[in-house]
Amino acid sequence: MRTRVQPATLIPPYGDHLVNVCVPVEERDAVTAYANQLPSLQLSARAVCDLELLATGALSPLDRFMGHTDHQRVVEEMRLSCGMFFPMPVILPVDAQPAFHLDCDIALRDAENRLLAVMTLEEIAPWDRRAVAQCVFGTLDSRHPLVAEMHRWGNLQLSGRLQVLQLPTHYDFQELRLTPVQTRAHLATLGQANVVAFQTRHPMYRVHEEMTKRALAEIRGTLLLQPVVGLTRPGDVDHYTRVRAYRALAARYYDPQCTLLALLPLAMRLAGPREALWHALIHRNYGANYFLVERDHAAPEPEANGAPFYSPYAAQALLQRYSTELGVRMMPYRELVYLPDEARYEEADRVPPGTRTASISSAQIREHYFQQGEKLPSWFTRPEVADILAETCPPRYHQGGCIWLTGLSGAGKSTTAEVLTVLLLEHGRQVTLLDGDVVRTHLSKGLGFSKEDRDTNILRMGFVAAEIVRHGGMVICAAVSPYRATLQDVRTMVGPDHFIEVFVDTPLEICEARDTKGMYARARRGELRHFTGIDDPYEAPEHPDIVLDTIHHTPQDNAQRILHELMQRGFVRRPAASTRTSDGIAGCL
Ligand code: ADP
Repeated sequence: MRTRVQPATLIPPYGDHLVNVCVPVEERDAVTAYANQLPSLQLSARAVCDLELLATGALSPLDRFMGHTDHQRVVEEMRLSCGMFFPMPVILPVDAQPAFHLDCDIALRDAENRLLAVMTLEEIAPWDRRAVAQCVFGTLDSRHPLVAEMHRWGNLQLSGRLQVLQLPTHYDFQELRLTPVQTRAHLATLGQANVVAFQTRHPMYRVHEEMTKRALAEIRGTLLLQPVVGLTRPGDVDHYTRVRAYRALAARYYDPQCTLLALLPLAMRLAGPREALWHALIHRNYGANYFLVERDHAAPEPEANGAPFYSPYAAQALLQRYSTELGVRMMPYRELVYLPDEARYEEADRVPPGTRTASISSAQIREHYFQQGEKLPSWFTRPEVADILAETCPPRYHQGGCIWLTGLSGAGKSTTAEVLTVLLLEHGRQVTLLDGDVVRTHLSKGLGFSKEDRDTNILRMGFVAAEIVRHGGMVICAAVSPYRATLQDVRTMVGPDHFIEVFVDTPLEICEARDTKGMYARARRGELRHFTGIDDPYEAPEHPDIVLDTIHHTPQDNAQRILHELMQRGFVRRPAASTRTSDGIAGCL
C-alpha cells in the first residue's frame, strides 16, 4: 500500500512573490514613443521566449537577462549572486554592436520588428561557451543541439533593467495562453491546495493519461497540464498538433473541475537534470507544488548508436535533492505497462512475472506509425488523438527529407547528387537540388570564403532545405560544408529525423589530381586564398549517416546506396515489382 501524499507546504526562499517588469498601462504610450527613438536589437526566437517568461514573472526571482556575476554563479553553482537558487542560465547573447554602450537604453524587438521592451544596458560582458556547455549540459559534444546552437550565439551578454511594453504576440490557442497570475487565479477557483504540473513534448498517449490521473488521485488536488509550446527538441511533433491532441484529451477524458490545460511558452535547453529543476521552478511560479517527472526528462535524442547524454532517472534524483528549496515536490513517473488480457494499465513492478504485456517504444511509434502512416491502436492512444496525429504525420514517403553531401571540392558531391536526383524522380519523389556552386551565384551571391561567410552560406542553404522538407519535398544539398558545428545546426533546423548526412570521403590527393575546376592548381600557386584542404580547414563529419568511397565505387553505385538508405527509412517506396539482389537493394536492369 502506498501512503497518501501530504499536502505540500514547501515555500521557495522568495515566497510566492512574482516579479513584475511590465510598464503600467497608463505609461505605455509615452515609453513606446521614447523607445521608437532608441537603437534596436532584434531578438532570436529563443530570446523572445525567455523575455516572455521574464515579463510574466514565470522566471521569478529573475527579473532580467543575467549579468556576468549571476550567470557565472548559476553556471557553476545553480545560484544567483544573491544566493538564491536558480538552475539555468538565461542570457541575452549578442555580437558586438557599435551603437550599444553602458547606460544607454535599447529597444528589444521580435522578428517582425514589433517593440517588446526597453532595456537599460547596465552590463556588456563576454561569456564562456565552454563553461556553459560543460557545467550546464555536461558535454562539449556538438551533437547536443544546444551545444551546437551556442556556437551561433554572440560573444557578449547584455544585461540591465527591463521595461516590458507588450508580451510577444501569439495568434494560436489564445484561450490556453495564461500568464502565471492568470493560471494561479484559475487554480484558486478550483479550490485545491495541491497542484501537480505535468509537461511532455510528446502528444499525450494513454500511458501519460494514466500516469497523470494516478498522480492526481494521489495528491487529491488539481492537474496542471502545461505543454511546452516555445522551442522543444528538434524533430518533435509540432506544437499545433500536440496542443490539438491535449485539447481533445482534456475535453473528453479529464474532469474540468480538477484539470487545467495551459500552454508554456518556454524555449527548452534540453539540459536533462538541470532543466528539470528549472521546469520545477517555472511550474511553481505558475502555481504548482508537485511536478510529475518522466524518465529522460528534457534530454536530447541520442544519435543512432550514440550514448544518451543523461542517465534516465538523473532528472528525478536531482529534483528530489532540491525539492525543499524549490518549493516543489518531485513525483516520479512510475513505469506503466498495458495488460491486454485485462484491458488496463498497471505499474510495471506490480505485474506478476509471466503476465502478458503490450508496449510500443518511441522508436516504433516513429518508424512504424509516423513513417508508415498507420493509425496508433486504441489501447495506446485515444482515437481522437490518433486521428489528429494521422492528419499531420502522413506516411514517410509523403514526408520531406534532406540529403546533405559534404566533402572536399572535387570529392564528387555534385556528380553523385545529379545521379541521385534522377533516381528520386524515377521513384516518384519531387526533388530540389541545391548545389553549393550554383547557390553562390544567386542566394549567396557576394559571400566570400571567410569562416563567417561560409557559415552564412551553409545556413542559408539549410534554411531553404528546412522549408522544402517542412512542405514534404526532397532536397539534395551538395556543399563542402567545412565546419561540423554549422552542419549540426543545419541538422537541427531541418529536423534530425529528416536529415541524412552523406560524407563524400575522397582524399585530398585524389581531389587534387582530379582538379576538374582547376582550383587546386590555382590554390597551390597562391592565386586563390582560403581554399578548403589547402589553406583552410575541413572538419570531416564525426558521425555521418553514410560514407561514400568514390575511388572504388562509381557515382551510380553511390547514388544507389543513398537511395537504398532512403528506402530503408521509408522516404522512398520500393517499386512493387522490382528485382532484388540478395542484400535487398533493388536491382537495376
Ligand atoms: P564536388 O561537387 O564534390 O566539388 P564534382 O562532382 O563537381 O565534385 O567533381 C568530381 C569529379 O570527380 C567529377 O569530374 C567526376 O566525374 C569525378 N569522379 C570520378 N569518380 C567519381 C565518383 N566515383 N564519384 C563522383 N565523382 C567522380
